[in-house]
Amino acid sequence: MVTYVMLQAFLQGAFELIFPDNCLLCRQFLNSRHQRQLCPHCLGSLAFNPNPFSRQSTSGSFAFDQAWSVCLYNEPAQKLLHAFKYNSKTSLSKTFVPLMIDFIDRHHVPVQLFDLIAPIPLHPVRLRERGYNQSALLSLALSRHYGISHSEDLLIRQKMTSSQTELGAKQRWTNMEGAFRIKNPSEVEGKSVVLVDDLFTTGATVHSAAETLKSAGAARVGALTFSITI
Ligand SMILES: [Zn+2]
Repeated sequence: MVTYVMLQAFLQGAFELIFPDNCLLCRQFLNSRHQRQLCPHCLGSLAFNPNPFSRQSTSGSFAFDQAWSVCLYNEPAQKLLHAFKYNSKTSLSKTFVPLMIDFIDRHHVPVQLFDLIAPIPLHPVRLRERGYNQSALLSLALSRHYGISHSEDLLIRQKMTSSQTELGAKQRWTNMEGAFRIKNPSEVEGKSVVLVDDLFTTGATVHSAAETLKSAGAARVGALTFSITI
């Protein structure tokens, strides 16, 4: 007798035969339905940040209190983040978020102690062009997993900044000055906020966002990024 489970397995197999998935990095066929985006080899080539990068504000150079980055920005991470940001590969959040959760849990990153989780926003013009904010895909999934309130429009990006990747270290800081404003200051006052972004390079972006939050009365600001430049 053909059971429902057998039929489902047959249909799944037929679907994968007709529409096989390829690894996003090496293009090898993925033959398991559990490997929808990366083959085990390419998934293993993403390097966790060995030091959970917790830079305190004691140096006086950063407005945030602590920052954590999950993976090193090695070549595979660069390719995946590029696809995530510029090629509409939004489904990559399903690969990134479990890695972030694994990192958070392993290093006891206290995300659950924050009142709010918020993404680094895109400028409205860039959001229209791209159609989504890649950092918001990560922060929303994390907020659901850890049961923290998500605020997508806590910060408004008011300055159309040029891409940070094209700028030198010093220019990155001036580029981000006054980049953000607070939509509703009462939402921020006395609150602890963890900011989420895809990449930490000099820290200028999260610093500027944290500075804006602190000037509106935020008690504590943390920053969690998927990747960090080596
Ligand atoms: Zn691969």
